Formats: sequence, structure tokens, C-alpha cells
Amino acid sequence: MAPAFRFRADIDSLPAYVPGQRPPAGHSTYKLSSNENPFPPSAAVLAAVADAAADLNRYPDMYATELVAAIAAHLGTEPDRVAVGNGSVAVLETVLKAACRPGDEVVHAWRSFEAYPIAIQVAGATGVRVPVREDGSHDLVAMADAITDRTRVVLVCSPNNPTGTVVHDDEMWAFLARVPRGVLVVMDEAYVEFVRDDDAADGLALAAEFKNVLVLRTFSKAYGLAGLRVGYAVARPRLIRGLRSASTPFGVNALAQAAALTVLREAKDVAVRCERIIAERTRVLAALRETGWTVPEAQGNFYWLEVGRHAVSFAREAAASGAVVRAFDGEGVRVSVGEIEGNDSVLRLAAQWQRMRVS
Ligand SMILES: *Cc1c(COP(=O)(O)O)cnc(C)c1O
Repeated sequence: MAPAFRFRADIDSLPAYVPGQRPPAGHSTYKLSSNENPFPPSAAVLAAVADAAADLNRYPDMYATELVAAIAAHLGTEPDRVAVGNGSVAVLETVLKAACRPGDEVVHAWRSFEAYPIAIQVAGATGVRVPVREDGSHDLVAMADAITDRTRVVLVCSPNNPTGTVVHDDEMWAFLARVPRGVLVVMDEAYVEFVRDDDAADGLALAAEFKNVLVLRTFSKAYGLAGLRVGYAVARPRLIRGLRSASTPFGVNALAQAAALTVLREAKDVAVRCERIIAERTRVLAALRETGWTVPEAQGNFYWLEVGRHAVSFAREAAASGAVVRAFDGEGVRVSVGEIEGNDSVLRLAAQWQRMRVS
């Protein structure tokens, strides 16, 4: 008998993407495990989604023309340099599938975003992990050293999920000077709106300068639309054309397009909410350092506690005290900056841990 159909053997061995845990229903628990925006959507966004819902029998605008134009205007670039997708992770998947042949290599930092190894493997490529430095930041010199004839793409995550660090402008220029023109550098700037480090690399400026730089951004974090799934790429028109051809048709649904368009018109309110999250981040980090924690520079809406083998037990205790955080077994925990009460709950636990360690 012929063997039953199976997916490729490597698909069976994929690591599962571990989403941030959800608090149990009916409990007043703070969800600090997925780097979401604690502010709910505005009335205008909800109204736009409700309006768009009246036309759900119709396909959405295939290339999200209006949204692409609005994003381009917002960024001060041209619409032919912007392509949208069903979340920036879907855009990344399309980039990798369109770029890589079997055996091609994708260089990225590690630890970094856990969606990367999965997307790389599904694209049929081979991931090459370059350890982050002691302070959690990308080692761009080692990453350039890791480029071979097989390398097609390098992923740079700034701020890096989960360590929170950014790549600096001078490092990035030195790095790009070493990257061959035939290698694509993807800068994942999912958290760029929260960056307050003046030396941070500016992905858009680099994408304007270098033909082989593609920037990824999202409406999931600062814009608070994680549930609707909209992300985009900014790059040269030639790359954007290819990306559009390779993308799932109608990849951004009608409700998401309407919501993203509306939230772009609320840019001022979005900025105010970002400032509140950043102020809270500053407060939380200062409190942690005061109690003796060494925390990497946090430039996203989250911070990293390197608790090593205690990661899972820290997360368990945090959940018991009302805050769900994200444990990376054996490495550390990533904690989103969310509601003040939730942040305080983790701060109390973190202070308690330090006291235990000292005594
Ligand atoms: C959250 C996150 C994203 C956003 O993904 P979407 O698919 O746009 O929701 C992208 N990259 C990193 C590093 C992230 O942490």
C-alpha cells in the first residue's frame, strides 16, 4: 500500500510558536505576555470596523490601495515603496519564501523573535543563529562574519524581542558596508514607535539609502490593532512589486484595512498612548534597577529579566500573583509594560526575588 500523505519531514519537526499565555477567564489577571497595547481601540476605530462590516459579502481592496497611500503619506515616502500583509510576520514569511531556495541561509540573532526559526524553516531555508551579546544586543560584527555564499537574507530585530535592545546607527552603517549587495537585510521594527534612544538605527533612512534593506512595521503594537493583523514592508519599488506578486491575494481583510486607516488619522492619540507606555517603562526599569536587577536597555513596550533556569518558576509565581508573563525556559522572562497595577504586581515579585537572592 502506498504511504499516506505527509507534509515534508522537516514540517513535523517545527518548534511550535508559543503564544503569550492568556489569563484564565473571569480572573482579574493582567496579560503581560504578548507585548500588546493595554489601551483598547478608540470609538472611531470601532465605528470604522462596524461600518466596514456592512460590506463583508465583498472582497477587500486587494492591494489595500487607500491604506498603502495613507501609510506612505504618514512615513513621508511613496506608495510604491509600501506593501501590506496579514501582520508583519506574514510579510516576513512572504519575503523569505520569495527570497530563499532550499539550502539557502538566513542569518539572525539569537535569542530573538521566536517566529523567525519557524518562518525560515517553512521557507525551506536554513537558519544561522548568531548569539546576542552579554547585554542582549545584536552582535552585528559576528552577524556580518556569519554571511556566506549561501546567505540570502539577514534578519535584524530592533528593538529585539525579547531582550529589548536596539541596533545603533553607526553599527548598522558599518554592518551594511560589509553585507554583499545580493543579500537582503530585513529590519524588523515592530516596536519602533517606543524607541527613545537617539543613537538607534533608523530603518526608513537605511531603506532609502540601501537597495538591499527592507523594513518591517506593524499595527499590532503601538497602534493597538494586534487582533486585526496588519503589517507592512517598506523597500525599493522593485522589491515591493515582487512582494505583492508573492503575497496571499486579499491578504489584509476589509475590517483591518478600515481600522488601520482610522488609527493612522489618530496619530496624535497614538503618540500620547506611546508616551504613557514609555513613561511607565521608565518607572518600572528604574524600580527594578533600584532593587538590584540588571536589565538590558528596554526600547520596546517590554523588558527582559534574565532569570535563567528560574524562568518557568518566576512566570508561575507571577501568574499566581495576577500577571501573566512570557517564560523562555532556561533563559529568562519577557514582561510587557501594561496596566500600572499589572506592572506593580511583577515589580513586587521581582523585589521579593532579589531579597531572597541577597539573603
Ligand atoms: C510582535 C512582533 C511583530 C508583529 O507581528 P505582527 O504579525 O505584525 O502582529 C513582528 N516582529 C516582532 C519582533 C514582534 O515582536
